[in-house]
Amino acid sequence: MAETGPPVLDEEPIQKSGLEKVEEGSPKAPVEIKLSSEAPPKKQRRAKLKAKDSSDKAATQLLTESQITALENAFKAGDVEDRGVVDAGQVQFIVQQVLGDVLTVSEVRTLVQKGEAVGAATGVINLQEFKDLLIDLLHTTTTRWGALQTSLDGYVGFDTVLEQQRKKFLKKGFEFNLMVVGESGLGKSTLVNTLFKSKVSRTSCTNEPPQKIPKTVEINTVTHVIEEKNVRLRLSITDTPGFGDQVNNENCWLPIYDQINKQFDKYLTEERSVVRRKQIPDSRIHCCLYFIAPTGHGLKALDISCMKKLHDVVNIIPVIAKADTMTIEERDAFKDRIREDIAEAEIKVYPSSLLPEDEDVLQANAPIRKHLPLAVVGSDRALTINNKSILGRQTKWGFVEVENPNHCEFSFLRDMLLRTHMQDLKDTTHEEHYENYRRQKLSEEGNP
Ligand code: GDP
Ligand code: MG
Repeated sequence: MAETGPPVLDEEPIQKSGLEKVEEGSPKAPVEIKLSSEAPPKKQRRAKLKAKDSSDKAATQLLTESQITALENAFKAGDVEDRGVVDAGQVQFIVQQVLGDVLTVSEVRTLVQKGEAVGAATGVINLQEFKDLLIDLLHTTTTRWGALQTSLDGYVGFDTVLEQQRKKFLKKGFEFNLMVVGESGLGKSTLVNTLFKSKVSRTSCTNEPPQKIPKTVEINTVTHVIEEKNVRLRLSITDTPGFGDQVNNENCWLPIYDQINKQFDKYLTEERSVVRRKQIPDSRIHCCLYFIAPTGHGLKALDISCMKKLHDVVNIIPVIAKADTMTIEERDAFKDRIREDIAEAEIKVYPSSLLPEDEDVLQANAPIRKHLPLAVVGSDRALTINNKSILGRQTKWGFVEVENPNHCEFSFLRDMLLRTHMQDLKDTTHEEHYENYRRQKLSEEGNP
C-alpha cells in the first residue's frame, strides 16, 4: 500500500530564523543547570542543551501558528478548572478533540503510553508537554491530521494525487485473499463460484460423486487472476476441506489458525529483510467466510470454539449456508438465535465494533451489522427466464433467485465483499490483525 508521509505544511523560512533568535535569549536553559547540585560533566551538559534545543526547534518549526492555537484551545477546553495542567489519562480525549475521532486503536495505545510516560511523576501534563506530545504523535505515529487543516489561497493541484494513485494501483493490480471455513457439503465451493461468476473454487458442484473426506483438515489455496474493466484482481481462495468432519473435532481450528499466522510470518520476514521487494506479495487472509449449517438450532459448540480461536487473527463474516432450506420465519428466528449466541460467546465478527469509526464508516457498517449473519444461497447454474440469464436454484416448488434480495442475502454479501468493503477488509487485516501478530512476535524476540 502506498503510504504517504505526513504532509509538509507551511515551510516558512521567516518562522525558522525568528525562532533561532528567541532561543538565543532563552532564560530557561541556564536555570536548569544551576538547579542541579552536582554539575554534570561538560560534555554531557552540552549534549543535554543540544537535545533541548532541537526538541524546542521541532516544536515550533513543524507546526503553524493556527495549528498551535488549535492545540492550545483544545488543551484549555480540557483544563476545565483552569489549573494549567490536565490529567495524563485525559490526554487521549483532548487529542481526539483536535484530530477528530479518527485515530486507530494502535495509535491511541501509543498515545496513552506516551502520555503516561510524560505524566509519570506527577500524573498531570502541562501545556508545553502536551504540545511536545502531540507534535511527536503527528510526526511519528499518525498520518491523521484531521482538523489541523491549513487553508489555501488558491488552487495548488495536489488533488490529482488520487488520479496518480489510481494509475499506480491499476498497474500493480489488487490482491484479495478469501478463506472459507465450514463443514463439508454446506455449499462453500458453490458460493465462492457464485460470488465470482466463475469456477474459481477448486471443487465445484457437479453431479460428481462426493469427494473422499480427508482424514484431517486440509488447507487448499487456489489463485486466479481475474479482470474487469482494466482492473486486475489476484484472487486467492483458501478452502478447508475436512473441517468438522472428524469424530473428534476439538482441534480442527488449529491448521486454519496456523495457516493464517504462517502468512503473517511470511509477510513479516519479507518486511524485515535487508533487501526487500518494493511490493511485498500479500498472502495474508483478508476475510474468512464462516459457514453455519441451517439447523435452526443456533451455533454448534464447534462453531463457537472455532470462531473464538480465529477472531483475533482474521476478519470473520458468518453466513448461514443453504438458506433456501428454511422458510422466511425460520430464517429470521435462526438469525436472532445466532446473533444472541455470538454476543454471548463474545465472538468478534467483522466489522468489529471495537474500533473507533467516523460517521461515514458507521453508516456504511450499520446495515451489515443489522443483517449479520447473512443468509445465502449458492448456485453456479444460470437459468434463462424471459430471455434473461438468472443465477438460481430450481426446486420442485419454485425457483430461488440467488441475486434477488427478496430471496436471500447473497447480493448483500457480494456487494460488501467486492464493492464496498474489500479495501477495508484488507486495511483491517494489515492494521489490526497483522499488527497484533507483529507486535507479539517482535516482543517475544525481546524488542522493546
Ligand atoms: P462444500 O463442501 O461446502 O464446498 O459444498 P459444495 O459447494 O460442494 O456443495 C455441496 C452440495 O450442496 C452440492 O450438491 C450443491 O449443489 C449443494 N448446494 C450448494 N449450495 C447450496 C444452496 O445454497 N442451497 C442448496 N439447497 N444446496 C446447495
Ligand atoms: Mg468444497
